[in-house]
Amino acid sequence: MSKAKKKVKVIKIDVDKCNGCRACELICSSFHASPKYSSNNPERSRVRVIRDPLKDIYLPVYAGEYTPAECAGRNKYVLDGREYSECDTCRASCPSRDLFKEPDSGLPLKCDMCDGEDEPMCVKWCLSKALTYEEYEEDREEEPKLGEMEIGLESLVNRHGLQKVMDTIARLSKKG
Ligand code: SF4
Ligand code: SF4
Repeated sequence: MSKAKKKVKVIKIDVDKCNGCRACELICSSFHASPKYSSNNPERSRVRVIRDPLKDIYLPVYAGEYTPAECAGRNKYVLDGREYSECDTCRASCPSRDLFKEPDSGLPLKCDMCDGEDEPMCVKWCLSKALTYEEYEEDREEEPKLGEMEIGLESLVNRHGLQKVMDTIARLSKKG
């Protein structure tokens, strides 16, 4: 398989520098409003700051993948002597909590790294420099290009399921 280059975008989070100001939430929701900058509502933000001032916890968490089911088991992190609640460090838009769901539609939210911008908006607006942005390239295995027949088969399998497609091919080949 040939190698291709893939750009990897990383937001580095220094929790010790985060003061919980929530500017990142405001700018993210405002930047993604339609029309752009027409409103701001942290509930629409793709980054949320877990705040527990009594424990000195300020943890920015980015919206990741949607999952239709909650975890059967959970983790608890203790970092630098601070104990985080279950789910605090998780990025999933999941049925067990309200985080990372568009408040009107309930549709899952996911950080898109402000695609098209030279630097993510939340990074630009974080005055305490808790968020920094890095980019690098890494090798990626390139998928072999599919032929017409493979593409057709793939879409049939996606639509009807592998078993049904196989049964149909077996039936047709018997006829032949
Ligand atoms: S803008 Fe920076 S300091 Fe403020 S809450 Fe977000 S990450 Fe923390
Ligand atoms: S990178 Fe962009 S989309 Fe992702 S949380 Fe920051 S502002 Fe929102």
